[in-house]
Parts: sequence; C-alpha cells; structure tokens
Amino acid sequence: MKIIFYGTRGSIPVADRDFIQVGGNTSCILVIFKSGEIAILDAGTGIRKLGHDLRTKMAKTYGDIFIGLSHTHWDHIQGFPFFKPAYDPDQKLIISLCGRQKHARDLSSIFAAQMQRDYFPVSFDNLQANIVFFEADTEIYRTRSGATITAAEHRHPGGAWTYRIEEQGKVLIYCTDIEHSAGIDMNIVRFSSGADLLIHDAQYTSEELKSKAGWGHSSWDQAVEVADLAGVKRLALFHHDPEHDDTYLFDLEKKYQRHHPHIFLARETLSISL
Ligand SMILES: [Zn+2]
Ligand SMILES: [Zn+2]
Repeated sequence: MKIIFYGTRGSIPVADRDFIQVGGNTSCILVIFKSGEIAILDAGTGIRKLGHDLRTKMAKTYGDIFIGLSHTHWDHIQGFPFFKPAYDPDQKLIISLCGRQKHARDLSSIFAAQMQRDYFPVSFDNLQANIVFFEADTEIYRTRSGATITAAEHRHPGGAWTYRIEEQGKVLIYCTDIEHSAGIDMNIVRFSSGADLLIHDAQYTSEELKSKAGWGHSSWDQAVEVADLAGVKRLALFHHDPEHDDTYLFDLEKKYQRHHPHIFLARETLSISL
C-alpha cells in the first residue's frame, strides 16, 4: 500500500510561512491499495487538496471512497464540506466511526451540524454523493482485494480510535489524539504489534505534556515508547502542535534521530510505500 500525508497538523490549521514545510493542514491521510482502491483516514482540512488530487490525478479509478474517522473533533472533520467528491452524484462515500452506539448523537447528524447555516453557507443536503454512514464495532472494512481495516479504542476526551490496516502482510497503524495517562496504553501497543509503519500523535514535548493533562494528546517520548514496545519498523510523528514551527520541529527530529533512526516527522505531501 501507499500512504500520502495531506494533513499532519494538530488542533487548528496554520498558514504561517514558517510552518509550511511540515504542513499547515489538519489530519488527513490517503491510503492507496495495490488494487487501486483507496481509504482516507480523517477529514481534516487536508482533505480539500486530497479531493482535488483524486479528481485530477486519479480519474475515479478507485471506486467507492472509504473514510475512517479517528473521532469527530473539528480538526478531523472540518475539511469535509470542501471535499469535491462529496458533491459528485456518481460517487459513493462510506464514512465510518467505531463505537458510536456509546454516544448520544449519530454520525450523520454530527456531519450535518457542522454545515448548519450558523456555521456554513451550504447545507449537508446539497452534497450529492451517495453518502453512507457506517457505525461499526471494531471490524470495519474489507476492500475487494482483501485488505482489512480494524480499530481499537483509545483514551481521548470523547473517545477516539486507532486504525490497523493490513494488506498482503504489510501493516499500517494510525493512532492520533491519544492520551496515555499513567503509563503507556498496552492495548494499543498490542494492537500495533509488528507494524511496518506507526503514525502516532506527538503533539507535545515531555515538558509541555506536564501542563496538558486532560487535553488528549501524547509526547514525542511516548510515541517512541509505543513504537519500541510494539516493535514497529518505522514511526511517523503526527498531529504537530500549532505552536511548533518548521525550525523547531526539524531540530527536534534531528535530535531524536540520533538515537532513533527509524523515526521521522509526518509532513504534507510525503508519500511512503509499504
Ligand atoms: Zn486532533
Ligand atoms: Zn481530538
């Protein structure tokens, strides 16, 4: 499978000049399977460019579009009203989130709410695609070619989910907006076991994390610890804090790579093949 980062920023998009190399758009990742089918992880502001690229570079060869959400905080759904395929009557979209039965409101009403007139000029009813909301338990999706997508819940205000995507023996883990609390979440370590690539929340330094209890995020050190415990081959640090500019992040990456050569910053436009 091939993975392309379209949004790697946490919490809020940033457009300042010294943030552009790592990227200013919020969470959005494209996964292209060997069969040509695709999955999208989160619908942050990065999904606008992704939708544009699907139309111009991939010429609809991918079929239905599966969108798996880690959760529905703004920075993970905010780009959806700007996702061109959502306005195409010939396009089927499958939008999935696990564990919705625990929540008061269903997924479709959350998506419709962010397009209410008070917040947005175009209502959800104007989207012409065939949009199916899928509220799964943990076994979520299987592509026609047999790639599988499963999920496990992790700690975050309101709840959030880690995804495990497997295709022909290759494994991708997407784990963002996770707060490990006292000790590392060993359930997520087991779920990530042996992955070829782990994409993990690394919003804060260990120092910053001390004053951010309850904010729902991880430190660089915690991401490294999960990667080590789970024996993953490569670690992409993700959900960068909106206060961390390119210079800050590249310096930190260089420092960490001295001891952990398998880690790198997730940055916009970066693509990785597994
Ligand atoms: Zn987030
Ligand atoms: Zn969140």
